[in-house]
Amino acid sequence: MKETATPEGSRRPVSISDLEVHQLSALVRDLGAEPYRVTQILDGAWRSVATSWSGVTTLGKPLQERLTTEIRFSAFDQVERQEAEDGATTKLLLTLADGAKVEAVLMRSPADPRRGSGPRATVCVSSQAGCAVGCPFCATGELGFTRNLSAGEIQDQVRIARQILRTESRELTNVVYMGMGEPLQNIDAVFASIDGLTDPARGAIGQRRITVSTSGVVPGIERLAKQRPQITLAISLHAARNPLRDLLVPLNRKWPVEAVISAAAGHARATGRRTTYEVTMIDGINDRPEDSAALASLLRGSGAHVNLIPMNAVAHTPWKESAPERIEQIANELRAAGLTVTVRRNRGREAGAACGQLAAERAGAPTPIAVARRRELLVAASVAALQGQRTPQPIAPSGPLGGDA
Ligand code: SAH
Ligand code: SF4
Repeated sequence: MKETATPEGSRRPVSISDLEVHQLSALVRDLGAEPYRVTQILDGAWRSVATSWSGVTTLGKPLQERLTTEIRFSAFDQVERQEAEDGATTKLLLTLADGAKVEAVLMRSPADPRRGSGPRATVCVSSQAGCAVGCPFCATGELGFTRNLSAGEIQDQVRIARQILRTESRELTNVVYMGMGEPLQNIDAVFASIDGLTDPARGAIGQRRITVSTSGVVPGIERLAKQRPQITLAISLHAARNPLRDLLVPLNRKWPVEAVISAAAGHARATGRRTTYEVTMIDGINDRPEDSAALASLLRGSGAHVNLIPMNAVAHTPWKESAPERIEQIANELRAAGLTVTVRRNRGREAGAACGQLAAERAGAPTPIAVARRRELLVAASVAALQGQRTPQPIAPSGPLGGDA
């Protein structure tokens, strides 16, 4: 039996999505089952509404029972569902074998005849439990880092989303790596998960329907361009100038704005794909006239798409979202610089931008002292950043994993 070690030291069977097809074939052979069973097993895992081996009726009872002891059907021990936005959004809080919790969010949109697009369903997946980057406005960043997810743990978020959609006779159309974690800091598992998701025998999802969002891991962007060139790249920019981006995306100290933009331009050149830039809009912090002017001049001529996302107040910060009128003005300024712009509204508040919120709530609130201290540090750091000073130290996570700030 293939097994994985858990932190408690107990041994558990490996889950189906963590097996390569050749490993599954070997396992099926070891079980004395016929080779065609491999296809039935993969179909049961990827193309049925079953939630366990006993639900995959084509396999027959004896094989169902053997598989139940040999291979986990799902990476998750527990799945909690929360519906939002009148059923358009489903949030999933998923408990992994070692007790770590991650979130995935399923978003459904109706057909849009003006754009000629059919109904869409997008799943936003996590690549890590927590995140080590520590962007202060982000609930996951505040929580701190627990561990990387395996390729199977990432793919199983997509499998669950598809099972849910199948019961509604809907199709999954897109996958975005915009949940908890920094995908390019877990790049091997993320690439392996993309390979499973796009394999015709498994996920069978088109490469171009997959987007990886990064806070700016330059070597990872370069590898993405070379090794998975069909994948769409989204860059979490948030600020066009280094002092402010140091504060909003602490990784900027390692790979500053210029390095990130040049890696993204290299990606666009190598792949012929348009880059998306995400900017979380924070009132009085990154929405001042000098910020929007700097953003427009930085991206002018890049042919990029910009997604403006009102900040969702899910982490403990002294900040709030920008005014809608100001976001509209900035959108127009960017359009005048030749960029295409979308403003994410409720969906961002409810779903993607809130990813990490449920897991953070379950991890327990940081102490009031830690929260007060964090707010104080953020106020001081933002004053310095707005004056153009670069801050040497990131603000430490205040969540239960990060200790007191
Ligand atoms: N770590 C990757 C992917 C996950 S975050 C990254 O940072 O790109 C996905 C997107 O949600 C990022 O653009 C992130 O900046 C944004 N986001 C996170 N917290 C948010 C919040 N509280 N309000 C609005 N957007 C947020
Ligand atoms: Fe990590 Fe992305 Fe959140 Fe930053 S925004 S802390 S990179 S998950």
